[in-house]
Amino acid sequence: MDLTRYVNTFGRYLQSKYGERIHKLSVNAAFTCPNRDGAKGIGGCTFCNNRSFSPNSTNSALSVTEQLAAAREKVAKVRKARKYLAYFQSYSNTYGDLQQLKALYDQALAEPDVIGLCVGTRPDCVPDPVLELLASYQAQGKEIWLELGLQSSFDATLERINRGHTFADYEDAIIRAHKYDLNICTHIIMGLPGETAKDTLVTYKKILDLGVRAIKVHPLHIVKGTQMAREWKQGDIPELSMDDYVETLTEIILTAPKDLLFHRLTGSGEHQYLLAPEWVKHKWDILGAVYKRLEERSTKD
Ligand code: SF4
Repeated sequence: MDLTRYVNTFGRYLQSKYGERIHKLSVNAAFTCPNRDGAKGIGGCTFCNNRSFSPNSTNSALSVTEQLAAAREKVAKVRKARKYLAYFQSYSNTYGDLQQLKALYDQALAEPDVIGLCVGTRPDCVPDPVLELLASYQAQGKEIWLELGLQSSFDATLERINRGHTFADYEDAIIRAHKYDLNICTHIIMGLPGETAKDTLVTYKKILDLGVRAIKVHPLHIVKGTQMAREWKQGDIPELSMDDYVETLTEIILTAPKDLLFHRLTGSGEHQYLLAPEWVKHKWDILGAVYKRLEERSTKD
């Protein structure tokens, strides 16, 4: 199975740009998010249990340098890696005082083998000074990616899952980030309550229209310790089927512009937290099924 025949993966993009594989090292810089600290809300998004979707994040009590060293050591046991991206993954990694953010990012970029940053955050947490800071690293030749969680373009869905921001907030963030010529990767979730897999196609098209460079797609994971888990137990959350996921993802891939990068095609959450759907545990089965559909549809079309 060679998915790169059909999918312009982030890994392949990095490899061709830098002539070798680049690995991500997760950093947990002990941020919170406005949807948890009371600025926007206190409960967070109804699907969110941060421990479940950043299981590899390191100990936030350690400095960025120490976390990178620990993560580097882990990667070195399985791969011969020489260059890395520091991945500020947990919570909203632009939600803080500008000088504090700069100190954290600078610490990561001071490592000689760290060639850039991936910074995960929310669309309502990217004021211009933060964008300007990220653009300044890019101007120095660093590989900088702003990862924006959108999840859905439907305001009714965003409200239902308690995102605490609207699609207009996302549009505003994208328009401003474009002014700084930043690379943007948008995260979307398929199977959110009240949505069909086809609704994800609408979200996808709206994202494309805004000119993002990359996307990350995954199916909804219902995980322990969340509001959504409670709703699911009451039977209020229909589960997305693997067939729907595979078919819709195949459609997304086949209609993608040539230069759209895919940072991720499915989730890789920690199984100890997962309640449903069961099939999301089997990443390679999902990717295998997508590959099979891509082959079938490419032959037929
Ligand atoms: S998913 Fe992100 S924005 Fe939502 S509550 Fe969790 S950390 Fe905050």
